[in-house]
Amino acid sequence: MKKHSVSPLLALLFAFVFITPVLASATTAAVPADIAQKLLIEGNQRFVTDKYTMPQIGQERRSKLTEVQHPFAVIVSCSDSRVPPEIIFNQGLGDLFVVRVAGNVLDSLELGSVEYAVEHLGTKLIVVLGHEKCGAVKATVDGGDIPPNIAAIAAKIQPAVDTARAANSSNIYEASADANISNMVAHLHADPLLAHIDGVIIVGAKYHLESGQVELIK
Ligand SMILES: [Zn+2]
Repeated sequence: MKKHSVSPLLALLFAFVFITPVLASATTAAVPADIAQKLLIEGNQRFVTDKYTMPQIGQERRSKLTEVQHPFAVIVSCSDSRVPPEIIFNQGLGDLFVVRVAGNVLDSLELGSVEYAVEHLGTKLIVVLGHEKCGAVKATVDGGDIPPNIAAIAAKIQPAVDTARAANSSNIYEASADANISNMVAHLHADPLLAHIDGVIIVGAKYHLESGQVELIK
């Protein structure tokens, strides 16, 4: 009988040593959107306060990622050199699935990229990240003679400029950037594929150039 009383303890120990890591990695495979958002906010806070920690980019991390990736957030951001998502959120390899295009706009190609991350990689949080003093937004507001490919981007931003103008915004550039973020969030909400996947959260955010702060837009 004594022998049997030891077995459950051993089983418990086994569970802690061998099963807990498996559960942990399963959690990593589909990080809930609210936890993903917390990870981004904490990472940005480290960046803002100059308490930047070395992200996981070493050999061990690279080896772990050769066969699989489970990025915990999709970031749709502007291509602007001052707004690199991995840096401003203090994240490493395999953490973020980043779709970058001037003006953080969404067309079929960008939407397809977002859908891929959500459907195939299990990512639950999507962030549309705009920023202050966006050149693509400024070009759209200023108008004039824009080359065709840049005009394609401007055409996507134009509805936001129209919204900002209709509201008589005092700062037409920033109001347009804000409206553009909201429009792209709405665009993602209207995506039928994303709408059918449980637990997906889509948020807008704006990066402030000087402070480094990412402000979530409600
Ligand atoms: Zn920009």
